[in-house]
Amino acid sequence: MSIQRFLTFCAVALAIAPLAAQAKVRIVVTVTDLGAIAQEVAGDNGAVTVLARPTQDPHFVDARPNLMIDLNRADALVLIGADLEVGWLPVLLRGARNEKILSGQPGYIDASSFVPLKEVPTAKIERSMGDIHPSGNPHITTDPTNAPLIARGLAERLATIDVANAAVYRANAEKFAAATNARIATWKAALAPYKGTPAITYHRSWIYFTDFAGLEEAGTVEPKPGIPPNAKHVADLIALIRVRHIPLVLQESWYGSATSEIVARETGAKLVVVPGMAREGQPYLEHIDEVVKATVAALASKKT
Ligand SMILES: [Zn+2]
Repeated sequence: MSIQRFLTFCAVALAIAPLAAQAKVRIVVTVTDLGAIAQEVAGDNGAVTVLARPTQDPHFVDARPNLMIDLNRADALVLIGADLEVGWLPVLLRGARNEKILSGQPGYIDASSFVPLKEVPTAKIERSMGDIHPSGNPHITTDPTNAPLIARGLAERLATIDVANAAVYRANAEKFAAATNARIATWKAALAPYKGTPAITYHRSWIYFTDFAGLEEAGTVEPKPGIPPNAKHVADLIALIRVRHIPLVLQESWYGSATSEIVARETGAKLVVVPGMAREGQPYLEHIDEVVKATVAALASKKT
């Protein structure tokens, strides 16, 4: 294509874009959990695009240029925040040149601002020291009680971006909250027999889930968030699991499971590998249901 034809193509594309935006609010989210929640809230009024694949560790996503195109066209950006996406989202935002979704604008929607954040350090932690949770624990969507808070916060923001449909967004959020609360009652009942059970996780990403589930996060395979396991740490962890009879090692499928398999084999703990985020197109509540069921099945198999 000649440069003139390309520029003409761009001009036509830009002329069409506002018409399309009127039809649906273009919502770009960083991860599938947020995509699933955003779709519940936006309903037919929103078109949701997810930047990270559900199989990617959301701390480390390739900043591919095509993601800038999605961001360039967005009316709203929903991110987890708390530095989860700090390694890749800022560069995409700079490339996207879309003022509507810059920090401080109504279209920049930070989900971590809607929930009580856990493990916020009292002293400053430098990311350069290796810990990738310097602003608190960003894995907020592993606790389903956070989902209605995120949905309601998102509905209020969409209500300011698309005023005509404000009532729809709020009603959708309440419907999702009610559905979530109904499932929470079922999950709590299934988890109740294991209250107080210690568990090991690979990354310190399940703290919201373990608190919800009534489990104790007794240790992690990674010595620090983002630091790969080493022999000394793994030996200490195996000793801890043996002494405390810890029955469960839980991890996301985006991490290699070789170390966790060794830990499980050496101790007899049950290794559970689950998707860390909703699968593509999977409703959020179905994803949590999968995690709860896998956890309960493992704990039930270990109960003596
Ligand atoms: Zn993390």
